Amino acid sequence: MALKYKRILLKISGEALGGEKGMGFDEPTMDAICGGVKKAHELGVQIGIVVGGGNFWRGRSSGKMERTLADKIGMLATVMNALAVSDKLEQLGVPTEVFTSITMPQVAPAFTRKDALRAMDEGKIAVFGGGTGNPFFSTDTATALRAVEVSADVMFKATMVDGVYDKDPHKYPDAKKYDTLTFTKVLEDQLAVMDGTAATLCRDNKLPILVFDLADPDNIARAVQGENVGTLVYE
Ligand code: UDP
Repeated sequence: MALKYKRILLKISGEALGGEKGMGFDEPTMDAICGGVKKAHELGVQIGIVVGGGNFWRGRSSGKMERTLADKIGMLATVMNALAVSDKLEQLGVPTEVFTSITMPQVAPAFTRKDALRAMDEGKIAVFGGGTGNPFFSTDTATALRAVEVSADVMFKATMVDGVYDKDPHKYPDAKKYDTLTFTKVLEDQLAVMDGTAATLCRDNKLPILVFDLADPDNIARAVQGENVGTLVYE
């Protein structure tokens, strides 16, 4: 089957790695997620991955701590997650290379567009840790940024819901799911799908985002083959 995309940037929330607890690492959940990534990779699509940090720490909900410091701790959490996802993929036989946005050469090389493209051309999955390297940003924005930087065709936002709804589907049984949406509507209606910075960056650079449920990790491979497994946000 023909592939819809040549290169994708996949965002996996930190919370997803924690399984039911949403905290730390849950081995069976990580096996399942990375198994899904492997299936997509075997189709021949180039893959970059940004992992969040919410299973360990989120700067915005850190209480009294000074925000930029709290965000530094959050960014370090995303590096831990990047290393763990890379390791899990390697255990499954998928070659990877980790890059960080904060220099820590003993841990992994610093991100450059050139090295990330080289890694993906070599058939490796590029795993990006450290978010954007700046406080007050999110890993959604980091994914959008890396996607634009490495000229990805699409950003995949794998979440805990199966798409974007007009209201919270957990609270309202009559909530309606969108198959497609424009960035303008996401921004105007403040739909809780991604932060405004990420949405604006994608809109300005014509990078579509597919929002879908990671509970079924086969969704990644389905989406790569063009199936709309969630909500496609574009324009
Ligand atoms: N973070 C940051 N700058 C970035 C990306 C992340 O400061 O560019 C920090 C921020 O504190 C954030 C935490 O890292 O709360 C974890 O990232 P995020 O909340 O996006 O993770 P997720 O909720 O997707 O697991």
